[in-house]
Amino acid sequence: MTGTIQAHTFRPRDLVGGHIVIDLLNTVTARDTEPIDWLDGYPRLLEWATLTGQFDPTALTALRRLAETRPAEAALALDRIRELREALHGLLTALLRRDAPAPAAAVDQLEDHWKCAAARARLTIRGNTPQLQVSVETSGLEYPDHELALQALALLRSLPLERTRVCPGQRCGWVFIDGSRGGRRRWCDMATCGNSAKGRTHYERKRRTESQQGHHQPPSDQ
Ligand SMILES: [Zn+2]
Repeated sequence: MTGTIQAHTFRPRDLVGGHIVIDLLNTVTARDTEPIDWLDGYPRLLEWATLTGQFDPTALTALRRLAETRPAEAALALDRIRELREALHGLLTALLRRDAPAPAAAVDQLEDHWKCAAARARLTIRGNTPQLQVSVETSGLEYPDHELALQALALLRSLPLERTRVCPGQRCGWVFIDGSRGGRRRWCDMATCGNSAKGRTHYERKRRTESQQGHHQPPSDQ
């Protein structure tokens, strides 16, 4: 990704991807024009992770402390998660475009992240399901990266491609999984992209009507 890094306070409406891994991709906005990366530091990553509600708060507190004492390591861990995010974005959008073969560099990077995660993971059995589990104890500051790499593999194995879309909103480019009943969701969020598009259409229609009126109206009494 080439673009700028910008501070951003994450809000619930930034999590519309339908899966935590998709929401990670959407920490970059305006991918259709000039991408803006909202992860402007490791603490911001933790802020986002907290908002997802999918990380143990105790683990996030431990990471916050670790990041304070080892800022250089935290910066590297953030670079790693950006790399994972961009590899996933490249791979996923290629899958959506039905590009074949998938971009090799992205696949290699994902493999690398997954291997690092698996090397630190423990195998646990939850219910009847074997699971690879990572933690702050085993992964340190790379715990979010490892967790997301494991989840990414699981998602890619069962991704409903026909329900996965890229928002056509201007300066958006967010990816989302359409979980709606009818499967006809077009926008990342009706309240933002959907609305501004509706507003634009309304404005364009109005302008068109006005200019047509200009053409077709009989000249007023001269
Ligand atoms: Zn959008």
